[in-house]
Amino acid sequence: MTTGRVFRRAVVAALVIAVATSTGASGSPAGLDVARRGQSVQLRQLPTVPAPFAAPRVKWPAAGQVALTFDDGPCAKKTRRTVDVLGDTPATFFVVGGQIRRSTSEVVFTASRGHSIQNHTMDHPRLRGLDGPRILNQLDTTAALIEQHVGVRPTVYRPPYGSTDSRVRAITSTAGWFEAMWNGGAPRMESGASSIIGGVRSQMKRARGANHGLVLLFHDCSGNFGGMIEALPTVISMLRADGWEFVTFG
Ligand SMILES: [Zn+2]
Repeated sequence: MTTGRVFRRAVVAALVIAVATSTGASGSPAGLDVARRGQSVQLRQLPTVPAPFAAPRVKWPAAGQVALTFDDGPCAKKTRRTVDVLGDTPATFFVVGGQIRRSTSEVVFTASRGHSIQNHTMDHPRLRGLDGPRILNQLDTTAALIEQHVGVRPTVYRPPYGSTDSRVRAITSTAGWFEAMWNGGAPRMESGASSIIGGVRSQMKRARGANHGLVLLFHDCSGNFGGMIEALPTVISMLRADGWEFVTFG
């Protein structure tokens, strides 16, 4: 596994001290008035760092690198079949906490084959619709389940439906998470094998032309599973023939 080397962690410490002062009728800041009276002044920690001040932590493969990712599992039989078809090709599985409870043995099996297990939230909500504590609760409860069953705590999350923005990233980045999006994969959930293969071929060309890394999104438990499984060996062969290096998130 080349995770550590490939995704060299850019540790960005964003320390923001926000001091809110209000101006009273006298024109002097209220905080200073308190200090002059000899009372202790406590700076309250902000519940979330304002978006413009938070350094977003995202992960993306370098040019010439490809990450295969599988969302929404684990689930009975299909996840195991996906892992079997992958063989020695490393991939990242963004798992849902609720699914881990239903199919624990599948996530354990996936990890035992050397794949990276990362975070796709507990209930698969749209994170843009949640406040800070609820977003972090979605990630933390899933992380605890993954750590319990796999023995490694995830560091990367994928927002369900790609529902993210600068506020979501500010909240998750401040808590130490990295966000992972995608730029390819099955064109649609119900895409058949030929559509997937054709789509990935175009995505490879675009990424090469733009000198970008490639993150392919598939689903191992939903959508057209048969089409995905049929396409996967060809997709892997195409990428290998074109010289792409397979990497994982984590
Ligand atoms: Zn999903």
